Amino acid sequence: MQTFKETGLPEEILSAIGELGYETPTPIQSKTIPEILNYGNDLIALAQTGTGKTGAFGLPVIPQIERESKNVQALILCPTRELCLQITKDLKDYSKNYRDLYITPVYGGAEIRTQIKSLKRGTHIVVGTPGRMNDLINRKAIELGEVRWLILDEADEMLNMGFKDDLESIMAQTPEWRQTLLFSATMPQEIARMSKNYMQDPVEISVGKKNQGAEKVDHHYYMVQAHDRYRALKRIVDVTPDVYGIIFCRTRQETKDIADKLMADGYNADALHGDLSQAQRDLVMHRFRKKHLQLLVATDVAARGIDVNDLTHVINYNLPDDIEVYIHRSGRTGRAGKEGVSVSIIHSREMHRIKAIEKIAKKAFERKMVPKADEICEKQLFHFLERVGQTELEESSPVNAVLPAVYEKLAEMDKEQLIKQFVAAEFNRFMEYYKDAPDLNIYKEESGKKGRRDRGNVKFSRLFLNIGKTDKLTSGEVIGLINNNMKGVTVKIGKIELLRNFSFIEVDKEYEQEVIGKLNKAKLKGKKVSLEVASPKPARRKNKRR
Ligand code: AMP
Repeated sequence: MQTFKETGLPEEILSAIGELGYETPTPIQSKTIPEILNYGNDLIALAQTGTGKTGAFGLPVIPQIERESKNVQALILCPTRELCLQITKDLKDYSKNYRDLYITPVYGGAEIRTQIKSLKRGTHIVVGTPGRMNDLINRKAIELGEVRWLILDEADEMLNMGFKDDLESIMAQTPEWRQTLLFSATMPQEIARMSKNYMQDPVEISVGKKNQGAEKVDHHYYMVQAHDRYRALKRIVDVTPDVYGIIFCRTRQETKDIADKLMADGYNADALHGDLSQAQRDLVMHRFRKKHLQLLVATDVAARGIDVNDLTHVINYNLPDDIEVYIHRSGRTGRAGKEGVSVSIIHSREMHRIKAIEKIAKKAFERKMVPKADEICEKQLFHFLERVGQTELEESSPVNAVLPAVYEKLAEMDKEQLIKQFVAAEFNRFMEYYKDAPDLNIYKEESGKKGRRDRGNVKFSRLFLNIGKTDKLTSGEVIGLINNNMKGVTVKIGKIELLRNFSFIEVDKEYEQEVIGKLNKAKLKGKKVSLEVASPKPARRKNKRR
């Protein structure tokens, strides 16, 4: 294995990265550092976040900057503010031994005049988001005629976000003799076209073993009925008490709903989506980075540029439509040499999408079964015991004051019995929560349609409704009534029996009280809805001929 010294980096850099704990170059760094230090060819590098790509371009560029000049010599474009700040921080760490080297981040959503001021003072490396960069160019606040290195980081993301025109007009401001370094996790057609138009004979770098980060991710999927997704999510989280991860949702609304439900159910979670102000986003991210939050529920857009290295899990609450998005999501775990798990919760008709990802992304998925009550309870119990073992008891703790009385109370029990009682008390608590929890797994991988009468694993509760056929009630209106009043959850509805003056409706037993509570405040057909649990249906008697 090559060492950093062998790549040709100078002592100032070697000592700075030594302090950061970097021992050997990552595969992408081994390839790019000598190329950038010695040859000056344009480069296209396939690399995901987490593979050390900031070092891959930053480490060889920094020592080549002419610090006595005040011109911008390296321009790094990246998709988001978060990534922009992260790259700036990393570059500052790498260049700590070059005190006269200046790096300036410029990004949208912040005061432009402050950024213009710091550019005017003179800077060597600018890290920017495309929209803000273009704005600065239009205001003639930045001069790019001396840029030697143009670096496009997460180029595919920038194109996905619609920055194509911005990128092209920025590139047009930089000299033709520049060295262009393009980093991208995926290689869609658009990138190939861009490299043809804006790069000269680029050297393509694909790290033999793709990238180290992605290799360390296990891909799991759980197959459940669509309406069991949330219940499955809770169980997956419950059986993984040390989870620290991102739950990806498709829409802002879904992100909010899932985060709200998780919080209401006592999980340490919060949401990150586009409706939050920058200050709110920063606060959520701060809590997540500090691990005060275990679960971040986010949309793909909001999660772009999040740079958190030790995520244990990425959870796809829904599979994304685009396979590249899956690759991006799963690349957020298993980073910096750690192991990670990418979990997908799918329903039976989504199996073909798993197969498509396996084929295109060349990743094997493993089916896992949604854990059942006893498995979760056991896991939680051992987690609890571990926490008990790690609890520190300081001399000044007020617990000490009550201990003598506690000893006295428990004096009759011997050690074995004490353990038994405590464990049983804790175990019963978990068991109580999971009592009657159904098996959520689908055992048959179905290829196609599902019977209309299929009742899945749902236990139904039969409710009495005070409105019936004489009110011209239809089944569609009953379904509408439930859906409109139970926003954010999909309540499975069973049989609907419309009778003359009233009706019976079957709903998922788990939501029985919530449905009754919400619908009893509603009106239908000009009447106030009255809904209650129906008395059990009398057993049907067969018409026997005598
Ligand atoms: P990046 O792909 O640039 O986001 O880097 C992912 C993480 O790996 C960052 O926390 C880096 O500080 C870290 N890293 C980068 N290069 C190395 C290296 N050669 N050895 C150890 N950690 C590294």
